[in-house]
Amino acid sequence: MAKTVLVTGGAGYIGSHTVLQLLLAGFKAVVVDNLENSSEVAIKRVAELAGEFGKNIIFHKIDIRDKEALEKVFASTTFDAVIHFAGLKAVGESVHKPLLYYNNNIIGTINLLEVMSAHGCKKLVFSSSATVYGWPKEVPCTEEFDLSATNPYGRTKLFIEEICRDIHISDPDWSIILLRYFNPVGAHPSGHIGEDPRGFPNNLMPFVQQVAVGRRPALTVFGNDYSTKDGTGVRDYIHVVDLSDGHISALQKLFDGSEIGCEVYNLGTGKGTSVLEMVAAFEKASGKEIPLVIAGRRPGDAEIVYASTAKAEKELHWKAKYGIEEMCRDQWNWASMNPWGYGCPDPAD
Ligand code: NAD
Ligand code: UDP
Repeated sequence: MAKTVLVTGGAGYIGSHTVLQLLLAGFKAVVVDNLENSSEVAIKRVAELAGEFGKNIIFHKIDIRDKEALEKVFASTTFDAVIHFAGLKAVGESVHKPLLYYNNNIIGTINLLEVMSAHGCKKLVFSSSATVYGWPKEVPCTEEFDLSATNPYGRTKLFIEEICRDIHISDPDWSIILLRYFNPVGAHPSGHIGEDPRGFPNNLMPFVQQVAVGRRPALTVFGNDYSTKDGTGVRDYIHVVDLSDGHISALQKLFDGSEIGCEVYNLGTGKGTSVLEMVAAFEKASGKEIPLVIAGRRPGDAEIVYASTAKAEKELHWKAKYGIEEMCRDQWNWASMNPWGYGCPDPAD
């Protein structure tokens, strides 16, 4: 029997790619999303890309803070597990609107956990972030590093991780996998789904993409005086399809009968890439020049962050397959086919 997974935030960037991988792996997926930072078009395209498995997706436009609505979803379907992506993720916005972030991310998660518990669904995969390593004193970051947060968004991830550890201590029936993502980029190789942030992009690659399609004049490089190979910040970029596959591996671990408890895994490639290296790779993939404006450091930014991947490789049997060439190739493919994201027609429609 196919297992059924509830995916919160499944219309979003990582969620939509993961739902596609879930369907292709033979799972049934029920997506709840309030479409605050996404489009229902993504769900339609995922169903199309899944071919014969496209019938195995159901979408509900629901805010996870609406407990009554969540209750209805759980009353109508028995879920084998939940993958919880739903949340707000803009670091800068979280500094200006901390209550919005605590309300949406933390209250939303508590609601979800309460409804899951009431319905006896106690298997969870949660989207945490490398942001919980704060400014790491050394690299690569291992899962045992001390945790800290440098902004309200990061604190929501830290608090939710702690909440998950507490509920597992209180009730060992819970099996929880916390996945700490490094820097997801790229898009599905078809070019039909990808990242489509609302408003001003906060992250490097959505910004680069918007410069390449002529929506913005230049990329501002935040600091070229770091102690790195070329002075710009270093991050661990990971192809979104690799990241999505990491969720399938996590689910398999939840279902294989082993004692999991509340376990945490990094999802990264283990390789550090600078801003200038990433821009060069994107220019090569797209044939577009990305004009640069060098500016001061962005407040709060760490210098070098990349993952230790040993634990995920050993225990989840998962390893990223793609490098920055494929990430940039697929990001450009999505951007050139959909320069205005989901806001313009898909050439295939
Ligand atoms: P995204 O904004 O594209 O997806 C999040 C989805 O959640 C959106 O579709 C949004 O509409 C939905 N959502 C938000 N609040 C909701 C609510 N209260 N009820 C229902 N739906 C709600 O972001 P993403 O990049 O796909 O990120 C997914 C998860 O991964 C988030 O929790 C994010 O914090 C985490 N994460 C992302 C990154 C990254 O760089 N993209 C890195 C680390 C962790
Ligand atoms: N960055 C930049 N210009 C931008 C956005 C990001 O130079 O417009 C840099 C940023 O300083 C960091 C890297 O790109 O060194 C990755 O930033 P992003 O916000 O994508 O990820 P995070 O810093 O949260 O890991």
